[in-house]
Amino acid sequence: MPELPEVEVSRLGIAPHVEQHTMSQFIVRNPNLRWPVDARLTQLLKNALITHTSRRGKYLILHVKCVNDVRGVLMIHLGMSGSLRIVTHDTAVQKHDHIDWVFASHRLRYRDPRRFGSVLWHDETEGDYLLHPRLATLGIEPFDEAFDGGYFYERAAKRSQAIKVVLLGGEIVVGVGNIYASEVLFDSKIHPATPANQLTRRECNIIAKHVKKVLSAAIARGGSTLKDFVHSDGSSGYFQLEAHVYDRANLPCLMCKTPIEHIIQAQRATYFCPHCQPERPNK
Ligand SMILES: [Zn+2]
Repeated sequence: MPELPEVEVSRLGIAPHVEQHTMSQFIVRNPNLRWPVDARLTQLLKNALITHTSRRGKYLILHVKCVNDVRGVLMIHLGMSGSLRIVTHDTAVQKHDHIDWVFASHRLRYRDPRRFGSVLWHDETEGDYLLHPRLATLGIEPFDEAFDGGYFYERAAKRSQAIKVVLLGGEIVVGVGNIYASEVLFDSKIHPATPANQLTRRECNIIAKHVKKVLSAAIARGGSTLKDFVHSDGSSGYFQLEAHVYDRANLPCLMCKTPIEHIIQAQRATYFCPHCQPERPNK
């Protein structure tokens, strides 16, 4: 499943091929994604200019200026299996290629076998896109300057859930998916079941630092796959994290050789080292 780093790498990969490009056509072969693609878009986006791209959480945003001066954004979510590719006009359409953005010399193509992704339109006259219902409730961006240990501590102090569950929830900070949550807590030497409101300021500083570090390392690693976004066969461009604990149950901890443990929290797998991340005594 694409997580925030994959979405950011997708954005970096397609940006040079879509920003300041005018699309002659917006082709929807199958509008039945998680939410239906607005049927008016085929007409509205004809000859529209993509001014720039951005990202909020796992939404990749295309900022659009239409010929009638209507401005808005296309909010693309890759769901479970979505991917974006730059292809030539004669690249054969495969079964799950649902949408094409057609530019003069190439196309942006959206493929999504499981169709849990979405392409939503937001007209600027309806207000700031960041206040769209899908975006308004998201936590702060991990690379936002305002996100630091103090920010995290203030909000964690109000939650009694396990820190792993709080990180994964994305209500304080977005982008810490299931793999990254285990990795961040291992790097921070904090047991994943620790109630968020028992964390000290110092521990929150460490967690915030590692959230930024783990996610930026994943994006940097994905940078080496950027060329795959262009003229490729459209195979998945998702990259593997070099995990320290995730999916390493019973294997020796890379720091201390203790076997990594595996537990389920909120129906999701968590991996941790019981020695490096000791459970704190009950207060
Ligand atoms: Zn260890």
